[in-house]
Amino acid sequence: MKVEFYGHVRQYQNIQKEIDANMQEVLLSGNYVQGPMLKRFEAELAAYHGTKYAVGLANGTDAIWLALMALGIGKGDEVITNANTFFATAEAIWIADATAVLIDCDPVTKCIDPAKIEAAITPKTKAIIPVHLYGQCADMIAIKKIADKHGLKLIEDNAQAIGASGPGFRIGHLSDVATTSFIIQKNLGTFGDGGALVTNNADVDARVRKLRNHGSNARNVHSFGFNSRLDDLHAGVLSAKLKNIDAWNDNRRQWAARYTAGLQGAKNFTLPTERSGYRHVFHLYVIETKKPEQRDVLLDFLVKNGVDAKTHYSIAIHQQAGYPWGKDARINGSLENAERNAATCISLPMFPELTAEEVDYVIAKVMEWDKANA
Ligand SMILES: *Cc1c(COP(=O)(O)O)cnc(C)c1O
Repeated sequence: MKVEFYGHVRQYQNIQKEIDANMQEVLLSGNYVQGPMLKRFEAELAAYHGTKYAVGLANGTDAIWLALMALGIGKGDEVITNANTFFATAEAIWIADATAVLIDCDPVTKCIDPAKIEAAITPKTKAIIPVHLYGQCADMIAIKKIADKHGLKLIEDNAQAIGASGPGFRIGHLSDVATTSFIIQKNLGTFGDGGALVTNNADVDARVRKLRNHGSNARNVHSFGFNSRLDDLHAGVLSAKLKNIDAWNDNRRQWAARYTAGLQGAKNFTLPTERSGYRHVFHLYVIETKKPEQRDVLLDFLVKNGVDAKTHYSIAIHQQAGYPWGKDARINGSLENAERNAATCISLPMFPELTAEEVDYVIAKVMEWDKANA
């Protein structure tokens, strides 16, 4: 049996009519850039988050640095995030010309450890970027308390967790801005690249709308800006898909529960957990081998047996060759949890259109390896 890591084509086939209809609507409208479909999707995305504004952008990386720029954060300013994240979180801080301050993650959730944030704050600190890693919302209540106490901005990197929530709050509600990515492999993905931010801050909304369009909101009138628009064709795809995101996330949660039940009792690795009161949307289902030397052995075993397992992310930001490439960066405290995660993580196939047979096959293979290594 072969189990793929993604199910992009299955997902397309499941709602092909709705996606095709939206794309055709755009194609026949004659409006392909900042047209009515983008407007419609932005309204739907804001409504989904329960925020006042949503701005479509070219990708999730731009969403982070444009948020920083719109909040006035740049050269000489420090921005705190966790060292175990997709590279783009730190990259966006550097694109904004700010200083990335890398701290450790919580050993269980892998999200930023709120207990380590205050020690990293200096007079230059301007913002915290918690990452809702793997689909689990970070401890936003604790993080918001710290941000408020020190007068810091909060930007949620929500590229991996659209639809996730915490006890009594949703993503985008306790922060200044929440950013997301619509690259195809994300929980809400288009056939290519896309991104967005949501906010309740009218000023951020207005600034980013200008910044994404060459600093222009009126014909021929410009201030310094960029080109980071979300195409209407992508907006059409995303509008069709957004209607299904909660059901798809429910499917992910169901597969995660099946993995967890099937892998219970394994000796050689730990399983992901959902914090009580939180809705984890399992962008990824990541197990960690107890010993670093086991990781590549298990990964090879799975790949040889047709299971397309991967790692997210086997090299933390500060471990990348050449770090920090002349950019401003600082490591605050030990990064032992982030480093252990990099050395031991394995992501099992996870997408809504998996079948029970596929999930059970993956479980059987992982358990076969576990028993052989008991
Ligand atoms: C995917 C991702 C991004 C970047 O999104 P792009 O659309 O690829 O630019 C940023 N942060 C995290 C945590 C991501 O997973």
